[in-house]
Amino acid sequence: MSVVPRMEMDQVLDLVNHYAPRPRAAAQDESKGYRELGAVLGDLASTFPASSEGALHAAAEDAYQVFLDAHTGHDVAPALNALLAAARPTPRLGPDGAVTWEVGDDGDPLRAALAVALLDWVHARGADRLGLCEGIRCADAFADSSAAGQRKYCGTVCLNRHKVAAYRRRAAEKKHDENEKKQDRGVGEKS
Ligand SMILES: [Zn+2]
Repeated sequence: MSVVPRMEMDQVLDLVNHYAPRPRAAAQDESKGYRELGAVLGDLASTFPASSEGALHAAAEDAYQVFLDAHTGHDVAPALNALLAAARPTPRLGPDGAVTWEVGDDGDPLRAALAVALLDWVHARGADRLGLCEGIRCADAFADSSAAGQRKYCGTVCLNRHKVAAYRRRAAEKKHDENEKKQDRGVGEKS
């Protein structure tokens, strides 16, 4: 048995958004390639046995499904239970009352860490605090720990890009309306 390292939600998001194919396809940056796990997770990466890039993509994609289901209003339980079932983490109560998780030799510590972090989050805060960015060319997963719980973007970059695009759209609509009014007046004068 080996202890499942504790993964913070920020680390879950870094891993999922870097290795899952769908957010990378949305950003159209797959051609940039993929960094080593150590460059994504920092010191935490060394606590996992080496994974092939294919295994990282698969684990990230399966975790991404939880965010996708939350985003589309579906029940996250099937995707999260599938992640748990594949990793098979077992809870263990320590003498201090703390719960740690372990996997057997046939288990997958990385998947287990993802599954346990998501299980903790959904249990404590609810699946409606998970989602996907609605930004332009972005489908990154995010976790909303704000008081209001109304988050729609993965971060300030996407939020600002949305605001700029919305401003330009309104400005273009205004110009279009003004041009139409001018044309209407023009037609009126001729008749
Ligand atoms: Zn985004």
